[in-house]
Amino acid sequence: MTLAEFGAPTSPPEVPSELISELRTIVGDRGWTSDPADLEPQLRDWVGYARGATPIMVMPKNASEVAAVVKACVAAGVPIVPQGGNTGSVAGAIPQGEILVSLRRMNRIRDIDAADYTVTVDAGVVLAEVQAAANEVDRFFPLSIGSEGSCTIGGNVSTNAGGTAVLRYGNMRDLVLGLEVVLPDGRVWDGLRRLRKDNTGYALKHLFMGAEGTLGIVTGAVLRLFPKPVEVATAFVALRDLDASIELLSLLRVATGDALSSLEVMPRIGIEIAREFDPEVVDPLSERHDWYAIVEVSGTKADGQTESTLEVALGEAVERGILVDATIAASTMQAKSIWRIRKSLVLNLPKVGAEVKHDVAVPVSKQPEFIRRATAAVEETVPGTRAVAYGHFGDGNVHFNLCAPLGMDASTFTARAADLHRAVYDIAAEYGGSFAAEHGIGIVKRSEMKRYRSPVEIDLMRQFKALLDPDGLFNPGKVLP
Ligand SMILES: Cc1cc2nc3c(=O)[nH]c(=O)nc-3n(C[C@H](O)[C@H](O)[C@H](O)COP(=O)(O)OP(=O)(O)OC[C@H]3O[C@@H](n4cnc5c(N)ncnc54)[C@H](O)[C@@H]3O)c2cc1C
Repeated sequence: MTLAEFGAPTSPPEVPSELISELRTIVGDRGWTSDPADLEPQLRDWVGYARGATPIMVMPKNASEVAAVVKACVAAGVPIVPQGGNTGSVAGAIPQGEILVSLRRMNRIRDIDAADYTVTVDAGVVLAEVQAAANEVDRFFPLSIGSEGSCTIGGNVSTNAGGTAVLRYGNMRDLVLGLEVVLPDGRVWDGLRRLRKDNTGYALKHLFMGAEGTLGIVTGAVLRLFPKPVEVATAFVALRDLDASIELLSLLRVATGDALSSLEVMPRIGIEIAREFDPEVVDPLSERHDWYAIVEVSGTKADGQTESTLEVALGEAVERGILVDATIAASTMQAKSIWRIRKSLVLNLPKVGAEVKHDVAVPVSKQPEFIRRATAAVEETVPGTRAVAYGHFGDGNVHFNLCAPLGMDASTFTARAADLHRAVYDIAAEYGGSFAAEHGIGIVKRSEMKRYRSPVEIDLMRQFKALLDPDGLFNPGKVLP
């Protein structure tokens, strides 16, 4: 699909050549490119929704340069799209003729303080580098997502990223103490406070988290660190049925003293897809079952208790008939091999055929019911649709992804995407759920906002947008309907 088909502006903005020259001067020779070969990977999203365009990508190296770029663009009335690692799942960082502002040269860890349990970083630092920096000072930064080798902190903040450890540590919103933001009028808001308590009026930082670049450009962040887990126990379990996932979650949270950091559920078809496309994936259990979970418990004391606690808890789950089989990783290699199943599923699902994706949240206890009803609904909409429902069950976050029926060609299936979305999102809405759990709205889900968010909510969002960005120059055509 083209971005225009998702409702993006159809004609690209006019960009005067004087502005291009001014931007080049601001960022210097190494800070910009218009070379089609350099731009190509920045103009398409990994899901394959769309291809974009830009006359120039600028790569400022500090907040002052970002501010100067913003002032120049605003003075010329030319819109801007911020970009981090371009790993977003809703095409939010893809420009449609706007100036592309990449934060990737802003990649400095400014300060790390083990005593304060904080790290202060440039927005363009890659997530895995923050994790490694924390590790070096015996601390832990818990955000963990499949794209951590290339996504950036600015992108994580702007999408309020989730991942596999939200259950214990929260999502990005819970991990940010302070922000530095270049506002659409070119002022720099220095909110880089490293305080746990700060009730000084409105919590401005929360406006920019999850805003997907529509209210300003995040240039720095203070992040919370945690004690480093020194014992991690990972298990792969076969569930009695889908309802057992919720029983297991309840049992494990209590039995482990809430040290459960992940509970990821996946169906049998998920393992089969992972194995078909990744020869290194092995099924850890000898028998086939309908539903599985990966569970992970971590502890900060090296007393051998983490694994034994998990072992006892899983034993109880088997006795109570919640689990029908389970294996605990005996080494870090085995734990990696268990997680590989989950990662390979995400990466290889698009290869199965056309994929229609849904990143849905419902109350935790309603996930099994939601999956059953949504599966029946998509079967009725397009008979033979193969539902692959997996996700972060500890957080109520289901990736309800759909593959084309065997034998149906991709375009016939994706032509029904709107009907499938309606069927799935309407059911999620009945449970008070969300059609955008952790990936955001971008351009891909913008049209759903009016149906699932109240006029009051949309009106308030528009008012904030108008206050901060009256000319609508920041990531136009994204998020707001
Ligand atoms: C294999 C894989 C697995 C993934 N798993 C997860 C997962 O488990 N959980 C999850 O939440 N996401 C997941 N994602 C999606 C994605 O990685 C996250 O949304 C991530 O936070 C995006 O970061 P980024 O730096 O790539 O941002 P980009 O894709 O570059 O941008 C995302 C949005 O943020 C805006 N933006 C970027 N930087 C800034 C900035 N500095 N200031 C203002 N706006 C900015 C962009 O304009 C865009 O709207 C996954 C992606 C892949 C490829």
